Amino acid sequence: MFNDKEVTVIFVLGGPGAGKGTQCEKLVADFNFCHLSAGDLLRAEQQREGSKEGELIRNYIKEGKIVPSYVTLKLLENAMNESINVNKNSRFLIDGFPRQMDQAEAFDAQVCNSKFALFLDCPEKTMEDRLAIRSKTSGREDDNIESIRKRFKTFIQTSMPVIEYYKSLGKCIQVDCTPAIDEVYQTIKAIVHEKIV
Ligand code: UDP
Ligand code: MG
Repeated sequence: MFNDKEVTVIFVLGGPGAGKGTQCEKLVADFNFCHLSAGDLLRAEQQREGSKEGELIRNYIKEGKIVPSYVTLKLLENAMNESINVNKNSRFLIDGFPRQMDQAEAFDAQVCNSKFALFLDCPEKTMEDRLAIRSKTSGREDDNIESIRKRFKTFIQTSMPVIEYYKSLGKCIQVDCTPAIDEVYQTIKAIVHEKIV
């Protein structure tokens, strides 16, 4: 378990296509964060030769379902350890996680008590339009309309309760992500600056 006085964790949450990855990249350019995308870690593990979980991960991702939490938690913990020990960076943006209540509880209790969650709020239609554009170049197996619909459903049913939970703890900051990327970023940058620096 990491000490939250030494390790800072900000969760970046929001539906598929809300702009989590895009906004995290911008934050990394301005602040010294280690950006960990749970989805990217899972996709890397799926590709890794000799991975025991590869097939399981592929099936969950295609169905837009949440991969069993022990898999994702372990990947995150390993990546955090590497950042802290190798890169001496203990400030984390964790993107697209937690997506399910048990993950939120397990992370805060067993890995590190998070500082706050940034909720990138976006109407479904806007997210769908963004994903339609991304699907042309992403090569992701879940950027097709069938998987996208399933991911939206999982987001509403399984991930929104996590956001409500952080709201109830007073640990959720909500940002409207309908405007253009740079406009949204100015809002986010001000929030992070105030909370972190
Ligand atoms: N995923 C998961 N657990 C997580 C994060 C992601 O199981 O904690 C899986 C889930 O199937 C999800 C997929 O990975 O639909 C893609 O997640 P990613 O965050 O890359 O998608 P985004 O929402 O950014 O489009
Ligand atoms: Mg992403």
